[in-house]
Amino acid sequence: MGKILIKNIKGLVQCGEDLPKVRRGGDMKELPILENAFLALEDGIIVEYGSMLEWGGLADWRDLEIIDAEGKYVLPAFCDSHTHTVFAKSREEEFVDRINGLTYEEIALKGGGILNSARRLADMSEVELFDHAMERIQRLKSYGTGALEIKSGYGLSMDAELKMLRVIKRLKAECDIPIRSTFLGAHAFPPEFKDNHRGYIDLIKNEMIPRIADENLADYIDVFCERNYFSVDEMEEILEAGIAIGLKPKVHVNQFSALGGIRKAVELNALSVDHLEELVDDDIEALKGSKTMPTILPSCSHFLSIPFGDARRLIDNDLPVALASDFNPGSTPSGNLGFVWSLACVKMKMTPEEALNALTINAAYAMGLSDTHGTITIGKKTAVILTKEIPNLAYIPYSFGDQLIERIILS
Ligand SMILES: [Zn+2]
Repeated sequence: MGKILIKNIKGLVQCGEDLPKVRRGGDMKELPILENAFLALEDGIIVEYGSMLEWGGLADWRDLEIIDAEGKYVLPAFCDSHTHTVFAKSREEEFVDRINGLTYEEIALKGGGILNSARRLADMSEVELFDHAMERIQRLKSYGTGALEIKSGYGLSMDAELKMLRVIKRLKAECDIPIRSTFLGAHAFPPEFKDNHRGYIDLIKNEMIPRIADENLADYIDVFCERNYFSVDEMEEILEAGIAIGLKPKVHVNQFSALGGIRKAVELNALSVDHLEELVDDDIEALKGSKTMPTILPSCSHFLSIPFGDARRLIDNDLPVALASDFNPGSTPSGNLGFVWSLACVKMKMTPEEALNALTINAAYAMGLSDTHGTITIGKKTAVILTKEIPNLAYIPYSFGDQLIERIILS
């Protein structure tokens, strides 16, 4: 804590008062940038910004860190509204299986995939899981992530799901970025419930959810609504049980098939619907006029070689789009949102401005952080990215694979 003054900023991006909580449709191209600017931060809060030409100096220069940002940009930190950052082990052997011709679904059917992660997680202690996740979070921060949502879902038993959620709860308490916790007990059916869906859904509803309420272990509830996973009706039943204890839905839908999950999630007032590689007209109609944020995960499409979400179709229908990493050991082993920014531009034809709105304002909305994150606004939390010297903002997604973030400033 203390005071930080960043001066001579080439461009102070996404700054302003009274900015919208969501940018949608044609407005996603808007991105306010103040050139030749300063930004003053005090005790973890944004207190002042403006043009260097109008800067009147500071009343009190004691305990002040001054950063000269000549040639550099300052952006709001990215918000990653969809991750599985708590997991036991990487799964590069499945990566090799896929190179050798198996599909993600075939790997899941032979015991790989989510069930593989679940087996490995069951054997790992809470302390070890916490330490690994903490290390990952330090890396994500270096890529510019200043807020993080983390899901359970590699437990798939009462004990292991609670273990994951307790790890997330401890991360919330000990990390210097805000973390949101999502209960994803309905990530897959565990093998012992393969032919007894009713049994597992009852376990989630009657045993896991009441314990989560008792120990205050989650903010959101998620279901993987997909063929071979949870049907739309099963999703509805589980989400309603979560809603009853105050958890808002954020769901995995339309990754491999459009089953009608988006319309149902919107009806249940979901905060976001995530994946959307497959979209049909009714999904678009359901989203219009709703408060649900469509969230696309292009790193997952890249890694699995599946279609990319059709961001242009959503934007052209006057809808908003958020982008997130889906960081997880099976389908997205990278949590680098700078790479997501590039993929959104290259593969989804989003402009650099649209994609940055999707990673900041709209992503903050998708994790309930609009009041504190997503823009550079007086009174919001200090969570800003200082870039290296770059010619312009588009240079960041253009230079894919380069680390152009000099540092993230969090207090
Ligand atoms: Zn996911």
